[in-house]
Amino acid sequence: MEKKKIILTGDRPTGRLHIGHYVGSLRRRVELQQADEYDKIFIFIADAQALTDNIDEPEKVRQSVIEVALDYLACGIDPAKSTIFIQSQIPELCELTFYYMDLVTVARLQRNPTVKTEIQMRHFEASIPVGFFTYPISQAADITAFKATTVPVGEDQEPMLEQTREIVRRFNHIYGETLVEPEILLPDGTASRRLPGTDGKAKMSKSLGNCIYLSDTADEVAEKVKGMYTDPTHLKVSDPGRLEGNAVFTYLDAFCKPEHFERYLNEYPDLEALKAHYTRGGLGDVKVKKFLTAILQEELTPIRERRKVFEKDIPAVYDMLRKGSEAARETAAQTLGDVRRAMRINYFDDQDLIREQAKRFGRE
Ligand code: ATP
Ligand code: MG
Repeated sequence: MEKKKIILTGDRPTGRLHIGHYVGSLRRRVELQQADEYDKIFIFIADAQALTDNIDEPEKVRQSVIEVALDYLACGIDPAKSTIFIQSQIPELCELTFYYMDLVTVARLQRNPTVKTEIQMRHFEASIPVGFFTYPISQAADITAFKATTVPVGEDQEPMLEQTREIVRRFNHIYGETLVEPEILLPDGTASRRLPGTDGKAKMSKSLGNCIYLSDTADEVAEKVKGMYTDPTHLKVSDPGRLEGNAVFTYLDAFCKPEHFERYLNEYPDLEALKAHYTRGGLGDVKVKKFLTAILQEELTPIRERRKVFEKDIPAVYDMLRKGSEAARETAAQTLGDVRRAMRINYFDDQDLIREQAKRFGRE
């Protein structure tokens, strides 16, 4: 039998979703959903993971769950094709995490570069919550519970996928072939793998407040682009400008298509020509930013409008999440059954065990 192709991916409900999520993962999910080549797609809202570094802000997490769900629907994720669920509603994931913890060393967790950066960002150095430190293990549980083969995420998730693959290999080596080793699916183009913030910082991130949100109004988007970080040495229009570290050009790399030039800036044939003019000097930031704004508005307007439609029936969104969580739970429970059997901790559903033990003690 050919191996099933299963997608799993998710987001932390720590705020509304931004255009970094869009280019890093959401846009791909919608394409994959349309492509119809996957047997199952699971998309989840990682509230339990969000609590690992927001333990004193439960209300923020609670409020963000519905925001993320609305962002999904607005982007075109279709609950008829993708199972959308809430992580904390699947207790099986905790149990898997608990067993996987025995397969990972503290030293291995300490080497995770993404977690290292996140610890610094959150000023956790002196007091790292154990749950936060071990979240890569819980991510391995999320991925393997659904036997995911493919995980479409941004570049920051590479160490998590590597950790998951190690856990799978170790588990299967000790207990026999049970879990499925997943592959990461990174977006095309480096700009989309880690979109910088509007402040030019390495990553657009809810926690850094440097985001353009999918649900921002047209005015907010325009204002944020106006204030974006470019090249601080590019003072006069005639000055030569730099592209490296210039967030406006990175966003163009992630969003610009050839037809945008025909529509909004037809004096240039393509992005290469625009970049060449900027580097040469004689092209002002304002013009490039106006072009970027037009492109973003074209992409974000339909998303914003679809979101408004879903906002009109919030109980239906919760109902969709509940049904998705129930369906997801069934799948996770099956995997947990496999894991328990493999780990020899399935005492009561194993008739052979009881018979063998009865024989051993001479009662048969
Ligand atoms: P937080 O600050 O709470 O960690 P976040 O903005 O980093 O939030 P996550 O929920 O951690 O967002 O990430 C969800 C998904 O979006 C992951 O697949 C991640 O790789 C991707 N992603 C997040 N930020 C970016 C970005 N700036 N560029 C590309 N992909 C991103
Ligand atoms: Mg993150």
